[in-house]
Parts: sequence; structure tokens; C-alpha cells
Amino acid sequence: MIRPRGCNAIGHRGWFTMKCRICARVLTVGEDLIYYCPKCVEINETYFCEADKRKLHGKCPYCSTELQLLI
Ligand SMILES: [Zn+2]
Ligand SMILES: [Zn+2]
Repeated sequence: MIRPRGCNAIGHRGWFTMKCRICARVLTVGEDLIYYCPKCVEINETYFCEADKRKLHGKCPYCSTELQLLI
């Protein structure tokens, strides 16, 4: 379990959900492994589930940047 540094979320869980860009599966931060493209996530919401990340060989289908694991 990796904890974001400087974050003490006591009494505040802050669940976020994202949608996989490819299969539209709802991904919950902290529950599912979510990968994103650091280059086009802000304009394109490029979040991917683990299965699709594997299908994409870890690369963004839009800009070929290596996908990062979202924590
Ligand atoms: Zn997916
Ligand atoms: Zn990208």
C-alpha cells in the first residue's frame, strides 16, 4: 500500500471515480488500479483500467507516452 506523501486524510476519505477511456468501466481510486497518461490526461481524461493498460502495452493510444499508475 502506497500512501501519498504529506497526506493525512483522517476522517476524509475522498473517493474519486474515473472512467476507463477504452471500456468505460468505472474505476475507484484506492480500490482499482488506474493508469493514466501524464501528457494528455488533462485534455483527454486518459484513464485506463489495468486490463486495457496491458492491451496497450503500457502506452497511451493517443500520444504513445508511457502510462503511469495513479495513486
Ligand atoms: Zn478498460
Ligand atoms: Zn497521451
